[in-house]
Amino acid sequence: MYCLKVICCSLLCISWGAAQHSDAFAEKMFRLQELQHRARLALSAAATTPGQEGFDVTYYGLDLRLSISTQTLRGSITIVARSLSGSLSSMTLDLAQTMTVDSVKVGNMKVLFTRETQTVSFPLDRTYASGEFVTATVFYGGTPGGTGFGSFAFQTAPDGTPWVWTLSEPYGARDWWPCKDHPDDKADSVDVSIRCDGTLKVGSQGTLVVVIDHGDGTKTHVWRHRYPIATYLVSLAAANYSEVSGWFRYSPADSMPVVNYALSSQLPSATSSLPLTIDMLHIYSDLYGLYPFVREKYGHAQFGWGGGMEHQTLTSLGSFSENLIAHELAHQWFGDMITMRTWPDIWLNEGFATYSVALYREKKYGPPAYRQVMDSEMSRAKLATGTLYVQDTSRVQTLFDSRLVYSKGASVLHMLRRVLGDSAFSKAILKYATDPGLQYRNASTSDLRSVCESVSGKELDWFFDQWVYGSGYPSVQYDWTSVPDGSGALVEVRLRQTNKSSLPSFFTMPLDIRFTDAGRDTTVTILFDTPTKSFTIRLPFSPFNVVLDPNGWMLMDVERTLVSIRGEEGVPDGFALGQNYPNPFNGSTMIPFTLAEPSTVTLEVFSVLGERVALLQPNDRFPAGRHVLLFSPTDDSPNTLPSGVYFYRLALPNRSLRVRTMVYLR
Ligand SMILES: [Zn+2]
Repeated sequence: MYCLKVICCSLLCISWGAAQHSDAFAEKMFRLQELQHRARLALSAAATTPGQEGFDVTYYGLDLRLSISTQTLRGSITIVARSLSGSLSSMTLDLAQTMTVDSVKVGNMKVLFTRETQTVSFPLDRTYASGEFVTATVFYGGTPGGTGFGSFAFQTAPDGTPWVWTLSEPYGARDWWPCKDHPDDKADSVDVSIRCDGTLKVGSQGTLVVVIDHGDGTKTHVWRHRYPIATYLVSLAAANYSEVSGWFRYSPADSMPVVNYALSSQLPSATSSLPLTIDMLHIYSDLYGLYPFVREKYGHAQFGWGGGMEHQTLTSLGSFSENLIAHELAHQWFGDMITMRTWPDIWLNEGFATYSVALYREKKYGPPAYRQVMDSEMSRAKLATGTLYVQDTSRVQTLFDSRLVYSKGASVLHMLRRVLGDSAFSKAILKYATDPGLQYRNASTSDLRSVCESVSGKELDWFFDQWVYGSGYPSVQYDWTSVPDGSGALVEVRLRQTNKSSLPSFFTMPLDIRFTDAGRDTTVTILFDTPTKSFTIRLPFSPFNVVLDPNGWMLMDVERTLVSIRGEEGVPDGFALGQNYPNPFNGSTMIPFTLAEPSTVTLEVFSVLGERVALLQPNDRFPAGRHVLLFSPTDDSPNTLPSGVYFYRLALPNRSLRVRTMVYLR
């Protein structure tokens, strides 16, 4: 679901892989496991409605008639369930109080039923042994109420025609049809049969088997879906839709129609988005394995909610925008085919769908497009509070907090990619999506962890514990010192980490550190596994700059606190002027220089004709070591300095001077 409103260089590896965890680390892990345990306990209570433990639903048949004028629905739901108990003698289904039950049949026998606020219960005709199947039909009707994001809406389209749609996630299926409304009991198949005003087209799951014209102004659309499905993914959408369709051909044996149902005003964008959708189906099928419902279809039905909802094989969309389509399509793998086992793990749905948009854009438009998506998600993730494993699932606002389960969820997958490496990450995600124990079933965070561990050979408890069951993100302070060593330098880097939230107090992470000189750079990776860490590295050059996590892999804030560098050898009098960077430049450029002893300096810039165009005399006395001056031509000669080659000259009070050239491009 996505709600629009809410919502190189050389690589050295130091000590990564040889994790030596400290006592503090062990203590932190212990506390995390405690938290994890408490969270799971709190949840098990709210998992399934009492009276539903004894059976497993295998089939739902929805046979409904919609009355637009009275805004009611009336009909029956047939349920086939397998007994899980040695003596199943009654059933309880979830159904909101606003709906009225007329009668219940078990097999062909009418049985009495009782209503509670949110359930209907009835005895069975006999006791069912474990493994036996029971068929029950509930006849009911009423005007569905709307909880969560709406559940069931009778609307009027902009052209004045009726528009009916559903959005049941998370707990809204029971608002309009009786069912065992829990995501870990998927029916193996579902039929949705809707009779309504014959001018309306009705979309639902799977394949349209037949449209029956009753000759009285009404028609029945019969949809058949033969894949496992959770109750919240069953939908209907009825309107005066126009239909456009294309075809997805992954291989000669694997192809299916792709269909869009749109109101006339959105028909142009529904049409132009079709090839995009088909392209996405190819990209995701390459990444995650073939589209999971390829024997039937994929499609979109326009609905009146500002966002999208990944109804199985027929996503509901408010608009046909590329990123929204990419998000919802990814849900067909993550959410629909593999559904989170319990709602606190909703990040497995939303994190994957959000991250998939980045992967899709990377495949289609290149790595910068991936970075653009992830930069934005990571800034939003920093605003998240609480643990990614959602503690309070009672309110949809906290369950679907977009900064948390969407943005931070995506950020966690992005970091997992860095921890595993590109190749192992791709293999792990493909294995997760194609694991026979998970496909068309349910998964929890620990299932994802196990797959990643088996593919990578790395133990990953620490990663999921801190990012999924802990809260916050780290802030890292650092400074560095460079000491000349032969033709290169010995560089010491000191790191310190804090987390505003108390748990975890510290995040373990691989950390890339890039050392840059004019035209040269080296990146090393360390395992940042203690609250403070320092290390020394020998480089073939003296760096101007040291940058943490230059490629933005980790969710963290970085703060450079203090840089102190001593004088260099290899320069006759210890006084040197470096090449400006960037060069050529536009706007401003950095001019590096080195002093053997403390001094003031004067920087002058001359045109090739010898005319002085800038003079910079900082008041400060610089200590011995390496420094950088910032030169912005527009400060001295606003808009008058032409593009061209210039000389820059740095002089000391003792008249020592150094000169270099630079190129300015306006
Ligand atoms: Zn979503």
